[in-house]
Amino acid sequence: MGKEPAFDRASHEAADPSDQLNDGARADLLLEQKRSLEQLNTWFEVALNNMVRGLSMFDADQRLIVCNKSYRQMYSLPEELTQPGTPLTDIVRYHVRHETGRQGAGEDAKFSRWLTEHRTKLAEGRSFSQIQHLRSGRTLLVTYQPLADGGWVDIQEDITEKRRTEEKIEWLAHHDALTGVANRFYFRETFEQALKGLGKGQSLALHWLDLDEFKEVNDTYGHPIGDALLKAVAQRLRASIRKTDFLARLGGDEFAIIQIGAVRSDQCERLAKRLQASISKPYNILGHTITISASLGIVRAPGHGRTADELLKNADIALYSVKSAGRRGFELYRRGCGQHIDAQHRLEADIQTALSRDQFELHYQPILSLRTHHVSSCEALLRWRHPRNGMISPPEFLPLAEKTGAIVDIGRWVLGQACRDATRWADELTVTVNLSLLQFESGDLTSVVQKALSDAGLPPSRLELEISEALLERDKGKMRCTLEELHRLGVGITLDNFGKATGSLSSLRSFPFDKVKIDRRLVREVPGGADNAAIVKAVAALAETLGMGTVAEGIETLDEFNTVARAGCNKAQGFYISRPVPVGELDAVLSECALRHSHAA
Ligand code: C2E
Ligand code: CA
Ligand code: CA
Repeated sequence: MGKEPAFDRASHEAADPSDQLNDGARADLLLEQKRSLEQLNTWFEVALNNMVRGLSMFDADQRLIVCNKSYRQMYSLPEELTQPGTPLTDIVRYHVRHETGRQGAGEDAKFSRWLTEHRTKLAEGRSFSQIQHLRSGRTLLVTYQPLADGGWVDIQEDITEKRRTEEKIEWLAHHDALTGVANRFYFRETFEQALKGLGKGQSLALHWLDLDEFKEVNDTYGHPIGDALLKAVAQRLRASIRKTDFLARLGGDEFAIIQIGAVRSDQCERLAKRLQASISKPYNILGHTITISASLGIVRAPGHGRTADELLKNADIALYSVKSAGRRGFELYRRGCGQHIDAQHRLEADIQTALSRDQFELHYQPILSLRTHHVSSCEALLRWRHPRNGMISPPEFLPLAEKTGAIVDIGRWVLGQACRDATRWADELTVTVNLSLLQFESGDLTSVVQKALSDAGLPPSRLELEISEALLERDKGKMRCTLEELHRLGVGITLDNFGKATGSLSSLRSFPFDKVKIDRRLVREVPGGADNAAIVKAVAALAETLGMGTVAEGIETLDEFNTVARAGCNKAQGFYISRPVPVGELDAVLSECALRHSHAA
């Protein structure tokens, strides 16, 4: 506050011995004091009535001392009930009548109970709060602060919006934003609760529903129409179930319905048929007539399993058994019906749709320059977040992706994503991407790489591609040709896993690689590890003569780190430096690497 308040000045002056003043001066002083007091009152009133919160103050006899405008408005009090001296009972009685529209012995009894409680709490001398829901739909948080003389101050905060936001957040956490039905987390919670709540002789059924060929709708008409179709499907499903049943979207084009009640198998089947019939009527979406069907796997609890996991697994088996036969329809789980479907086959089916369901992600592992002790590149390593099996690593699913050919599309995605990620890193960092044989054989690898770079806006010099030594054995002609094209683009090419397969020098010479990555088997210290060190040293020396750099991978210990540094390798990678991490954690890992290794530079 800029200037000293007038009432302060007045009180200082009042401290002067006033009997030294003559009558005229005394009268002046009194007038000035009165003015200051009036001024103070005005300020006080302005402040009070400009508060967003309601405020009132009562004395020990429960009579109103003062209240502000917000208080009057929040409780819609008439003018006469806001005058100093008004008994609390009058105010509350008015309020109760206004809120409930009632007046009678019942209300009076409630009111006197409230008053007794209120007095007891005040007597404890601590502040306390209460939530009040008003008829107008507003919610107030009222805080009472007892005063030393037996009175109190209460403050009303309108928390309606805050409550609504909280409810919205709560809703979003439990629902699927697209269709408005429950999401998979809420489903899981509800399913577990429902299972726990099953009494003796009671049962429920779970219908796991998957749209047939939904991907085709997306591919043909585009995502906006695919989304609109999912919304329409959810609406029809909701209309086909009872109020006591529960509908959720598990993700993508998968829905689940919990059918509550004593469910016999014929009842399950009736609902399944009803669901299928309602889904398969044609849809009119933005001018397109679309038809789609659904397949369902059904389990009954407790008959087909006691835990949510067991039941979900069995519902999935039933669903898979419908789908794998290329049939459409529904199937009630039968013990043993999944036995002929081995895990491998199911993964094989799942990997076909994993990309369109956004189940892949890239983790990155830093590669440290042994010359500068800075991270010079990060290798993109693919991870599959499988909806039921959790995180799966490449050795488990790459063979399937190769076998089914899915690797071509997956590899294209990896290139695109890695280039996009790298644009957010420091300019001196490159990104390293692994390639599969099938990507070379599919024909257009060069243009795929070119497109990934130009879409992301990444200079070719910031991309390095790794080709496993073993691949060179399997393809010589075409691969060499493509590698040359890629080299001309300006991307780096590394021979990966050198020494794991043949380790023959011919592979080093088969193409002018920029780098050789020495396989961790060669690096690993084995009994008599001195030989290994000698081999690594020889490879590093040879690579240098051929004008190539060397990366030692799989470095797990300080000893190994020192060995490969002494052997003359240019770069090192491995758990000793950092494990592969999700892209979101990379910044932190890079800072930590900088701290840990910079002293050695
Ligand atoms: P890679 O190219 O030899 O990648 C290095 C592998 O070694 C990674 O396994 C990595 O997690 C692991 N590793 C790193 N440091 C250490 C260490 O200090 N000790 C040990 N024991 N292991 C370490 P990951 O991620 O399971 O990948 C396995 C292989 O899958 C990769 O071997 C690569 O050939 C292939 N791969 C990964 N991502 C892709 C991809 O996007 N496309 C293709 N085509 N292949 C990929
Ligand atoms: Ca690699
Ligand atoms: Ca490797």
